[in-house]
Amino acid sequence: MVSRVIPVEPFDLVIFGATGDLARRKILPGLYRRFCAGQMPEGARIIGAARSDLDDAAFRELVREAIAEFGNGAPCETQTLDGFLEALSYVTVDARGEGGWQALKDALRPDEAVVRAFYFSVGPGLFGDLAERLHAHGLARDTSRVVVEKPFGRDLASAKALNAELAKHFNEEQIYRIDHYLGKETVQNLMAVRFGNVLFEPLWNSQYIDHIQITVSETVSVEGRGAYYDKSGAMRDMVQNHLMQLLCLIAMEPPSRFNPDAVRDEKLKVIRALAPVETHHIVRGQYEAEGDTGSYRDHAEDPRSTTESFVALRTQIENWRWAGTPFYLRTGKRLRARMSEITVVFKPTRHSIFDIGEGEDVHSNMLHIRLQPNEGMTMDVTIKEPGPGGMRLITVPLDMTFAQALGPEAEEVPDAYERLIMDVIRGNQTLFMRGDEVEAAWAWTDPVIEGWKTRGDVPKPYEPGTAGPEDALMLMHRDGRRWREIRK
Ligand code: NAP
Repeated sequence: MVSRVIPVEPFDLVIFGATGDLARRKILPGLYRRFCAGQMPEGARIIGAARSDLDDAAFRELVREAIAEFGNGAPCETQTLDGFLEALSYVTVDARGEGGWQALKDALRPDEAVVRAFYFSVGPGLFGDLAERLHAHGLARDTSRVVVEKPFGRDLASAKALNAELAKHFNEEQIYRIDHYLGKETVQNLMAVRFGNVLFEPLWNSQYIDHIQITVSETVSVEGRGAYYDKSGAMRDMVQNHLMQLLCLIAMEPPSRFNPDAVRDEKLKVIRALAPVETHHIVRGQYEAEGDTGSYRDHAEDPRSTTESFVALRTQIENWRWAGTPFYLRTGKRLRARMSEITVVFKPTRHSIFDIGEGEDVHSNMLHIRLQPNEGMTMDVTIKEPGPGGMRLITVPLDMTFAQALGPEAEEVPDAYERLIMDVIRGNQTLFMRGDEVEAAWAWTDPVIEGWKTRGDVPKPYEPGTAGPEDALMLMHRDGRRWREIRK
């Protein structure tokens, strides 16, 4: 199997915030890898923009260092790196000032055939300023694209305000709201698995599925960015966007076509069908200290912080397909292992022809879709335990690690940012969130967060290296179910 790299159209990509952390860690090294892969055409230009007073040479040096540090040892010759750096230039510009815009305009090519894109890799407080000045100074065309970073608001009101600010100057087809989770290979695979195979879809409903669990667990703490994180918490930082997107892809109806609006329409329907989360169906946690490492509150630099570093909840999708099948979502920091996994637990066979001994489990099929690490799928199937002594049943995993199945090619898949930036240039919005989708997600999240505030809810402490607070286990146990083990 040979991977196909189709070069994109020539483009001028302006990165606002080009000297910042995200640009240095992800965007610029990602573009470099696409350059190495031959996807960037000859006529591609990248223009860095920020307030720092740099010239082209100093910016290229900054990018060279960023690639050395964050490029994951991209397989490129020095010559190729120089070729990439030649495509870069820099303009000093303040999103809130009037200087530098003419210079930026001069750096852009007037040719309509050159795709023009503006990446807002700056705080959301600057989105409106940038949108306004791009128009006022005549840089934005009807065909220009803008890429905006997460977080897209911190509640419904602020998300609506951001949408309104952008909508003053750009229409929805021009706006690309990034959730980098959607750029992950396995996340897209969810759609391929569901809609490219006949096997799963007939069983994909509450008649056959007992429940679905989604876990995104991290081992890292918030140390170093605790003060920033403390203003958001796991519900805003992870559930409202990443886990919500996974939930949509696993639960949505088949779109009529794999095109941006058909896919996003179906995702939106899922979010709108979500039942409000009941108070006793949600558990919040905060990690404690361990040895020399501080607790969440130490890292947040607030001994009384009530922001959660862990959340587990049960929700329901109120539609024909899913009525009666609960969805359990869980995410947290400082947990036992780094793992993102979706587990689909099927119902047991309607009638068992085998005797089930006392204390023996009723066997159910389970499909585990692992997003990280070791992306792949495992299907738990029931077989006869080998050997004499009658018909005893056991469950064995049918393991399909994509890396094994695909060989070296699986190693070469572009990272989420690379893929998403190339999609912007191609003008494909399928993997970007539409404004109404983001607002619907906040409309579901807001009452949960408001409820905590009005009740004065305090997160439960949990030991680092575990699966979170005991209450999260109870959330499942009460329903006669259990979480999938968090493991590497
Ligand atoms: P950062 O390190 O603070 O960088 C901010 C960038 O914006 C710098 O290049 C800064 O350069 C520029 N900037 C600030 N004020 C400006 C102004 N008035 N006019 C023009 N440029 C200005 O932030 P970051 O971590 O890169 O994050 C950027 C965005 O991505 C944020 O919205 C963040 O939430 C989002 N994000 C970041 C990450 C991540 O891993 N870092 C992940 C997901 C999302 P000057 O000071 O030179 O102007």
